[in-house]
Amino acid sequence: MSIEVRGVSKRYGDFVALDDINVSLPTGQLTALLGPSGGGKSTLLRIIAGLETADGGSVQIEGTDATKLPPQKRNVGFVFQHYAVFKHMTVAKNVAFGLEIRKRPKAEVRKKVDELLELVHLSQFAHRLPSQLSGGQRQRLALARALAVEPTVLLLDEPFGALDAKVRKELRDWLRRLHDEVHVTTVFVTHDQEEALEVADEIVVINEGRIEQVGTPDQLYDEPANDFVMGFLGEVTRLGDLRLRPHDIDLLVEPGAPGVVAGTVVRSLRIGFEVRLTVEVAGQDEPSLVVLSRTHARALGVEEGSSVWLRPTAGALSVPALG
Ligand code: ADP
Ligand code: MG
Repeated sequence: MSIEVRGVSKRYGDFVALDDINVSLPTGQLTALLGPSGGGKSTLLRIIAGLETADGGSVQIEGTDATKLPPQKRNVGFVFQHYAVFKHMTVAKNVAFGLEIRKRPKAEVRKKVDELLELVHLSQFAHRLPSQLSGGQRQRLALARALAVEPTVLLLDEPFGALDAKVRKELRDWLRRLHDEVHVTTVFVTHDQEEALEVADEIVVINEGRIEQVGTPDQLYDEPANDFVMGFLGEVTRLGDLRLRPHDIDLLVEPGAPGVVAGTVVRSLRIGFEVRLTVEVAGQDEPSLVVLSRTHARALGVEEGSSVWLRPTAGALSVPALG
């Protein structure tokens, strides 16, 4: 294990930001810290980096007790949402900076900078200033800069959070490919479940200063440990006394099948290739949400006012509804 966090707690006044966190983050993997805003993700990342001191507990990095080490002795690289690159230095100079202050030989610095700019696809912009780059290119520059000093671990705090949806998606694909090339142990904070599910080898779900679950994207999605994780990783609706995912409901347009409940479509909303149906079910205080592909919905001929019959899909993941 690369990073071992043991019994870490952090309070701000009376407020408990982290409550006895124990987690192992494996070497060479890309781990996402996922959870709602205010849950304690950045606090945990900053404690791993040494930018924040825990009230108790320990942090080991690659077998070294780092609990009391200052950030510059932990051999970590960071990238934050708004990373301060040096505005008056070219792209190449920004990447070289960390190596130059470590007084590495000039030829070595030049070689390393060339390699890194290649890796983050910025070679043709080596002589530009950061202000002449797009937001996505600037975050790639920030990553190249963090990687220049060959950190043992790379810590990323919502690195794409300030960018628009399309660029964010491109960068997350790119980060995954980059990680497959360099294999540096990476911890990535995000509040975006899709981002975590797509990019991470392993996800640590953090909420209200506690760890809710640790697992692979498939484990979390298919076997959520509790209601919070199930709801946070994907949409959840209600059918009878079950909570389940909207695409795990079968919708039939004829009565008579075993185990169905009757309902009426009260709203039909098309979003891209999906149709989202709100179905009122007798004796159920909140309606059920059913998601179908547009083709399927059209084949069934469902529209607002249609009578329909619902049942959980065979093998649907579900948990008992509360109250
Ligand atoms: P996340 O990154 O998951 O959104 P944070 O770790 O930034 O959450 O914050 C967790 C909680 O701790 C929040 O409620 C936040 O307001 C609080 N907090 C964080 N830093 C400080 C601080 N320096 N002083 C007081 N409260 C803080
Ligand atoms: Mg944060």
